[in-house]
Amino acid sequence: MSGDKSNIFLSPPNGLYWVHMLLLDTPVKSLSRLMPKYVSLLEKLGILTLGDMLRHIPFRYEDYSQISTIDSVTIGEVSTIIGEIVKLKTIRAWKKKMFITEAFLEDESGSIRATWFNQPFLMNTLAEGKEIRVSGKISSGKSGIYFSNPAWEFSRREPTNTGRLVPVYPETDGLSSKWLRWQLQNIFQADVRFDDPLPETILQKLKLPPLEKALRFIHFPETENQYLLARKRFAFEEMFLLQLRSIQMKSRWQQEHSVSIHFDESLIKQFTIALPFTLTNAQRKAAFQILKDLEKNHPMNRLLNGDVGSGKTIVAAIASLQAAAAGFQVAIMAPTEVLARQHFLTFSELLKNHALTIALLTNAYQEKNEPQTTGHKSQTIIKETKSAQKTNLLTDISSGEINLVIGTHALIQKSVKFKNLALIIVDEQHRFGVTQRAYLQQEITSINDGLPGKIPHFLTMTATPIPRTLSLAYFGNLDLSLLDEMPKNRKPIITEIISPGRREKIYDFIRQEIHAGRQVFVILPLVEESKVLTEVKAATREFERLSKTIFPNLNIGLVHGKLKSTEKEKAMWDFANQKTDILVATAVVEVGIDIPNASVMIIEDADRFGLSQLHQFRGRIGRGQHQSYCFLFTSASGSASTARLKALVESENGFKIAEKDLELRGPGEFFGTRQSGLPDIAMENLTNVKLITLAHEEAQQLLSRDPRLKKHPLLAKRIRTLEINVHQE
Ligand code: ADP
Ligand code: MG
Repeated sequence: MSGDKSNIFLSPPNGLYWVHMLLLDTPVKSLSRLMPKYVSLLEKLGILTLGDMLRHIPFRYEDYSQISTIDSVTIGEVSTIIGEIVKLKTIRAWKKKMFITEAFLEDESGSIRATWFNQPFLMNTLAEGKEIRVSGKISSGKSGIYFSNPAWEFSRREPTNTGRLVPVYPETDGLSSKWLRWQLQNIFQADVRFDDPLPETILQKLKLPPLEKALRFIHFPETENQYLLARKRFAFEEMFLLQLRSIQMKSRWQQEHSVSIHFDESLIKQFTIALPFTLTNAQRKAAFQILKDLEKNHPMNRLLNGDVGSGKTIVAAIASLQAAAAGFQVAIMAPTEVLARQHFLTFSELLKNHALTIALLTNAYQEKNEPQTTGHKSQTIIKETKSAQKTNLLTDISSGEINLVIGTHALIQKSVKFKNLALIIVDEQHRFGVTQRAYLQQEITSINDGLPGKIPHFLTMTATPIPRTLSLAYFGNLDLSLLDEMPKNRKPIITEIISPGRREKIYDFIRQEIHAGRQVFVILPLVEESKVLTEVKAATREFERLSKTIFPNLNIGLVHGKLKSTEKEKAMWDFANQKTDILVATAVVEVGIDIPNASVMIIEDADRFGLSQLHQFRGRIGRGQHQSYCFLFTSASGSASTARLKALVESENGFKIAEKDLELRGPGEFFGTRQSGLPDIAMENLTNVKLITLAHEEAQQLLSRDPRLKKHPLLAKRIRTLEINVHQE
């Protein structure tokens, strides 16, 4: 037995039991060497178990593998030498309030000095006569060349921090890479059972190292090839898990039941003929795919992936009309109340010739700022919520009197009871998490309505076009409809990058445009989420500057994240109704509202946004018959940021821009890191088509033999942890 080995590492027996072997599940807090302080630091990194610690993967390596003789080191280069300490001292540099420890090292070729700052405790560990291995950069000074703050360890110890490829970890305050290396060394020396979730057949087939080997390779590689191979294995593993999860989700979803909604071709024809424009081919195809899905008696789960302005709303309206005309209810959810309201108006207008009752269910509406929407001389009855009427509205929803309910996400989360909800449409104006969608999906399955055993068909619409490479890994469980074609009548938006010197000229241009009857958006830069107040202050300041100094004769509105929803509504509606000429808005505020008369947009500090987001903003103009202009203000003179912004000047294709954005910033930034719940190595590989395809194929094969992963409990377990991480967002 190797109990002795693990004894060093485990807490002494507390009388209950004696553990001989460490498992990957062993909590780090039961490792005796870890003081409670470290346990909580590890927790901050998400490390709770030994397995988590081992899967804390280095993000780079220091190459200290070349061992030289002292006489062959070169200034400016990284070197490793082994030498005996012939002299050791610490001096206190009074002026700089600093301790300087110096060791003079000697080998048979010569001698060299090593210097450490503010580590006086080194005097307790180092001693004259001891031999150490030292790795670091060679500097030169008044008294010759020396190692400045090098890594070191006693030469009799196994190379861990020096003399090899040394791993560097993502750190948190107080947890150094050096500390992690020691702990990991200990773990590898203890008796650990490395249960590998990946089946051996797959490892063999793909020539990937098994878990223990891969972990040794990734933490303490002897060659670059070793860690590359290990990274490949872990990347495959993550993609494989994602694929297993999405295939399972998909098949679970398909086992659910839904109402089958007959595709009434003449109804849809009648609807499209009445539109003031013809549908694009992409819209036609997407609508057809959706209507075909609705006919099935298992639920649709489809993503309508289209650029801003590609006309997703009409497609959603067609699906809604079909479901409602067949006697079922439809819920449409928007990310904000403003957008819910706009959808309410748009759907009411689009569907006015069909005897449907449409309701808007939100919390914030007050009578004052309501536009005149009730004037339709059609059979459509429009119900709005006012606090007093809300109960009535809820009753009307549960009785089935209302066919279409439009609102925010609260719509299905609240205690709204439906009679026969057959279709849910989510308009994700924000790129909110893919994983949140999965969560939403869960909620849908337990929706409160009068169709027991049936769940609604589900359609989501994206705001940001998602590059195909990314959708492969991320949306494996969804069917995709692509709107990759813009309506024909669009005038291209003229986009320009504006350096500070041209600001005044642009202001003149704005005066002209407003004089000609147009309106202008001014978008202010994004400030970190935690700094909403800074953002509000900046917005207010800019608002005042514009109203007092620049455009004293114009009407200017302001929306920012700290306004009450009613105030936001008012600002938006004043702008929509042309009571204001300019709307100053912070990026946190949803400007997803359609204002065809707005023809100019200024984006301040444009370099601080992602390309996709800029494109998204820009999509708010160019919706009417006027020539539109988007001015990207930037004071960043760096050619890199200007080069990045050029992508917007050159293209209006949201898919291309997203592709570029993804390439420049990587999937983590593209999606917003917090949204994914995925480890970095998975993130890095989200666009690795080859790897994903491979993972997908293997996942499919495995699940066809073992659909519930009964024979692969370790995989099942890892998928569950994936789920937990995801839900903790
Ligand atoms: P998004 O995909 O960004 O949600 P919308 O559905 O809001 O786009 O459509 C943008 C605008 O284009 C709307 O004013 C809509 O009426 C109009 N539109 C939609 N489809 C077409 C089409 N086929 N031809 C012309 N205009 C269209
Ligand atoms: Mg839209």
